[in-house]
Amino acid sequence: MLLGGIEAGGTKMVLAIGDENGNIFEKATIPTDTPDVSVPKMIEFFQGKGIEALGIGCFGPVDLHKDSPTYGYITTTPKPGWSFYDFAGAFRKALNVPVGFDLDVNAAVLGEVTWGAAKDCGVAIYITIGTGVGVGVSVDGKLLHGLIHPEAGHVILTRHPEDTYKGHCPFHGNCLEGMAAGPAVEERWGKKGVELQDNPKVWEIESYYIAQAITNYILCYSPEKVILWGGVMHQEQMFPLIRKQVQEMLAGYLNSPMITEHIDDYIVAPGLGDEPGIKGALRLAYQELL
Ligand code: ADP
Ligand code: ZN
Repeated sequence: MLLGGIEAGGTKMVLAIGDENGNIFEKATIPTDTPDVSVPKMIEFFQGKGIEALGIGCFGPVDLHKDSPTYGYITTTPKPGWSFYDFAGAFRKALNVPVGFDLDVNAAVLGEVTWGAAKDCGVAIYITIGTGVGVGVSVDGKLLHGLIHPEAGHVILTRHPEDTYKGHCPFHGNCLEGMAAGPAVEERWGKKGVELQDNPKVWEIESYYIAQAITNYILCYSPEKVILWGGVMHQEQMFPLIRKQVQEMLAGYLNSPMITEHIDDYIVAPGLGDEPGIKGALRLAYQELL
């Protein structure tokens, strides 16, 4: 069965033709412009390829309530042209196939639960630390939506004792995104993250914030797997720092060997490499058909 997938990001759109087993046969990437420029190019990619359904993992915030008049829309984004844009509807009309729609990080956690590092986990979370911070949550095979959808990238954190940086988030200052996303690293240190590779203080402070947030997520969601990725996590030396600090912050309170003994297998990079989001989008397409 042929399915289409879109991983819709603020800087780029990843498009794929694949199947219900997560195989990808054709892939393309186009820059994210305004909808009137980007969407016709995306539709053209899928036209005539014989897909039976399309899945979209989209940057947020989005409306995921199927009974809402704005279901499938991107909602209050500051991105020019995309505010209250009917993303799912544009493709449903143009391609005339069922369209599955969810948040980008929810698609990513779905990909990982189906085929990746969180296979067979009841509760799993996927955290991306990139231009922003997003957290997707899967519970017993369902993606957590609730009132809107979790926005756990904006949990408020305690400042590192040596950090005087005000924070990059216009809403909260010292939330995880405000303190630890790529733009925060760049503004605090005056250089891009990739250029700070050899400064251990940068990654000590960075991992302190990420560990604090993960500690909170473990306490709230009780995940069986924590998947951590995004551009900033290309600084892979942070993985051991984060794991150790999570153990210290939890201080033995959660008595699970996954945390106390096997944390190397508990807080991990994705099993699907750079493809959890696009493969999750294929899965969203398949689920929409069922
Ligand atoms: P997006 O979140 O826009 O989808 P990414 O996940 O690639 O994209 O994240 C981009 C952010 O990650 C940028 O702020 C960039 O500076 C930062 N980044 C990318 N590569 C690295 C790296 N090797 N080390 C540290 N930061 C990085
Ligand atoms: Zn915030």
